[in-house]
Amino acid sequence: RVLVGTKVDETHANWVTAYNMLTGIRVAVSRTNAKLDRALTDADFDVKQKSTFDIAGNELVPSAKYDFKFKDYAPWVFRHLRTLFRLDPADYLMSLTGKYILSELGSPGKSGSFFYFSRDYKYIIKTIHHAEHKFLRKILKDYYQHVKDNPNTLLSQFYGLHRVKMPYGRKIHFVVMNNLFPPHRDIHQTFDLKGSTIGRDYREEDLENNPRATLKDLNWLRRKRAIELGLQKKRLFLEQLYKDVRLLQRLQIMDYSLLVGIHDLQRGNEENLRDKTLRVFNPGGNNPASEELDPHSVLMRTPSKLENQRKARELRQMIQSEKPVPMGETSSRMPNELEEGQNRPGFIFNQDDGGFRATHEDNTPGEEIYYLGVIDCLTHYGMIKKIEHFWKGLSSDRSQISALPPHEYGERFINFISSMTMSQEEAIRAAQERDAA
Ligand code: ATP
Ligand code: CA
Ligand code: CA
Repeated sequence: RVLVGTKVDETHANWVTAYNMLTGIRVAVSRTNAKLDRALTDADFDVKQKSTFDIAGNELVPSAKYDFKFKDYAPWVFRHLRTLFRLDPADYLMSLTGKYILSELGSPGKSGSFFYFSRDYKYIIKTIHHAEHKFLRKILKDYYQHVKDNPNTLLSQFYGLHRVKMPYGRKIHFVVMNNLFPPHRDIHQTFDLKGSTIGRDYREEDLENNPRATLKDLNWLRRKRAIELGLQKKRLFLEQLYKDVRLLQRLQIMDYSLLVGIHDLQRGNEENLRDKTLRVFNPGGNNPASEELDPHSVLMRTPSKLENQRKARELRQMIQSEKPVPMGETSSRMPNELEEGQNRPGFIFNQDDGGFRATHEDNTPGEEIYYLGVIDCLTHYGMIKKIEHFWKGLSSDRSQISALPPHEYGERFINFISSMTMSQEEAIRAAQERDAA
């Protein structure tokens, strides 16, 4: 598909960081996976496991190309989370660390976070602020319980929380999470929606140069768009969204958004095949000389049996080359139950080609597949937001600024998204009912 970043290879400015992240993940995750499974304890939520890597290596840590320190947070909790999200442990490691290839999206948001894709585009590594990291650790128990109670949660799926530190470098915290968008389908339009209109506009003139830019609330409204779901699907979607937003409100979280990717079945994937150099993001164009990934290499098809066998072989070699890590379920398990493309069996919102297909009111299938999730949900309504609220609150309509307190933020978010799922007639009816009341 066309969501292509910049390939991070040895000539790339962030190669060493990326290499160290992946080495840390490989060693830490295979260490935990190698042990027999067990129930979680309260103490598991506070664990930090530190490793020191260098060229020599030792009994606990294999040798690495560079010197760095790595911390793995709550490894058992994340192992259980990965199981709840039905990831194959071997597949997870292979996708991330089989070849040491990532592609960098740079930093698309205002926060300065960096985004990296695994080479198969299934996973995203996002660097996060220290405050977000501390906050995730604080809410981890609530998050875990929520995922257990809500297997179809729309919230970002966190698979790992780690930190790398290079000599003389700063500490870099990062999470591994799901890429909401499928590797094998073009996303024709993307919206990042908060339910606010202030500053929530992507300049339509700029779309010409960047046709796959992420659009915002005002662009959505301007297009008079709707998420078209029949009664049953709409109920499933909104009920799950309510539950997820209730959690975010209770944990005093705000600033999150609904990310909506739309695949138009009539357009299919043809543009992808026609134009090899199309890119979704040009994160500031900060790396013009770097090589772009060939989209064909990431046009993931369902892995063939041969490919699976090759993957299993690579995985065995990878694990065997790493003497200090004890052999366990990772090495003995063949990744032969690899997910079919991005189809995630059993998950409601991934049931149609990895997404959630539009349906008409009479329940016949529509022409679009939606890829949906609530992202960027680690911002606590803390000091910074209070200050922002104060300043913006002086000038604008209070309900329209984005830094509302968490409860109001959630209500506005839910209201906006419920109205997105209404047909024109429903919206008019709802407005008339409101006026009559
Ligand atoms: P800010 O705080 O300024 O909003 P941020 O650095 O926290 O930015 P996010 O809001 O998490 O970044 O994400 C920025 C963009 O990256 C999103 O609008 C979306 O296009 C893309 N993105 C983020 N998370 C995912 C994901 N899980 N799957 C696919 N795309 C994603
Ligand atoms: Ca955001
Ligand atoms: Ca953010």
